[in-house]
Amino acid sequence: PIRTRFAPSPTGLLHIGGVRTALFSWAYARKHGGTFVLRIEDTDLERSTPESVKAILDGMHWVGLDYDEGPFYQMQRMDRYKQVIAQLLESGHAYYCYASKDELEAMRAEAEARGEKPRYDRRWRPEAGKTLPAPPADVPPVVRFKTQLDGVIAWDDAVKGRIEIAASELDDLIIARPDGTPTYNFCVVVDDYDMQISHVIRGDDHVNNTPRQIVIYQALGATVPTFAHLPMIHNDQGQKMSKRRDAVSVVDYDALGILPEALLNYLARLGWGHGDDEFFSMEQFVEWFDLKDVSSAPSRFDREKLLWLNAQHIKATDAARLAERVAGFLAERTIDTSSGPALADVVTLLKDRSQTLIEMANQAEYFYQPLNPTAEIVEKHLQPEDEERLKLFAEGAAKLESWDAATLGAFIKDFVKQQGVKMPQVGMPLRAKVCGITNTPSVDAVLALIGREEVLRRLS
Ligand code: GLU
Repeated sequence: PIRTRFAPSPTGLLHIGGVRTALFSWAYARKHGGTFVLRIEDTDLERSTPESVKAILDGMHWVGLDYDEGPFYQMQRMDRYKQVIAQLLESGHAYYCYASKDELEAMRAEAEARGEKPRYDRRWRPEAGKTLPAPPADVPPVVRFKTQLDGVIAWDDAVKGRIEIAASELDDLIIARPDGTPTYNFCVVVDDYDMQISHVIRGDDHVNNTPRQIVIYQALGATVPTFAHLPMIHNDQGQKMSKRRDAVSVVDYDALGILPEALLNYLARLGWGHGDDEFFSMEQFVEWFDLKDVSSAPSRFDREKLLWLNAQHIKATDAARLAERVAGFLAERTIDTSSGPALADVVTLLKDRSQTLIEMANQAEYFYQPLNPTAEIVEKHLQPEDEERLKLFAEGAAKLESWDAATLGAFIKDFVKQQGVKMPQVGMPLRAKVCGITNTPSVDAVLALIGREEVLRRLS
């Protein structure tokens, strides 16, 4: 059975690189009727925070990536790691190492003097025919993994192809610290083994960890999972995305008025493609997705494309759902939507012309209270002669038999003719006076929605 996982470290907000990793893992499991597991890798006590755990869980919920098992927490699995360490010591795949800090420092200095990579000289590694020194009483030992000395460690990466690393490149990895706590690469293997993960899909910043992990699987007699290392996401300058420079966390996108499905659709296209298809649903993505179509080259974040996709998703989303989100943005600005037109009707009018929900909220505002026109708008559209004309308009409009877009449209047309002017000479001042801005949808539809009483009040 296919089992995948997303294993974030809770050291910050959920960022889009993480979401893309989660998305591909999730899609692979969904496509194959498998299981998607969430695991929180919280063993770095200095950098892990409960706030970050919450941000990750909230972020996963916001994007809508549902997991079947978990969240599991590594800190709750300490006993299990210790048990496996004992097992490896017992089977001879690991050993105690009493090298002191000073000794390790000396090894490092010597290696550097020879121009070599600093490495542990394996002085406590048991070998046939080798006599080990007597353990010093004052040095609490670490546990090291007894990595094979020769040969290669190889795997067929589902994204990067075959990768081979000479065993001689690897050190005898420390798997338990002097206080007995297990180290990162070791915990990951025990977890992926216990959780029976079939496909480890993760960022390619972990490629160097993979051979160190493979040897541990082998020592445990476990099947080595398939690895798929996803390429990095760069910003539009071709640099690694950074918290300081770029919007990177999902809450940033939420605040920008991006729909989660648009963000997922966009992230799906980063490093993966299906012909020229750009705009698609998650159901469609799951059907198309395959690891073999993931590119191994870094992809570039393109904000314009994200906005374009967001506009497509806004158009495709029903008004009631959009209204719920837009209501939140309006509430933040203390705009009262309880009197005035139904927000869903306003949203329907704005759906085809908004790239983000923020843009939509900006436009929705004037349906509830007029915005203050800028000096430029007053200068252009609200001169005394415009005001005169608006007064006449209001008198006529007050007498209309009904108040709907069609009636208003016909009335405006007649009024323009009767005034001997062009459409914009009525339409623009009307928008400026009633809404406060001039880039609105068709003026008859806007007036119809705002309602007769309120329009006449704003005109007077
Ligand atoms: N916890 C690691 C990270 O957040 C991921 C480890 C893994 O996927 O194997 O980068």
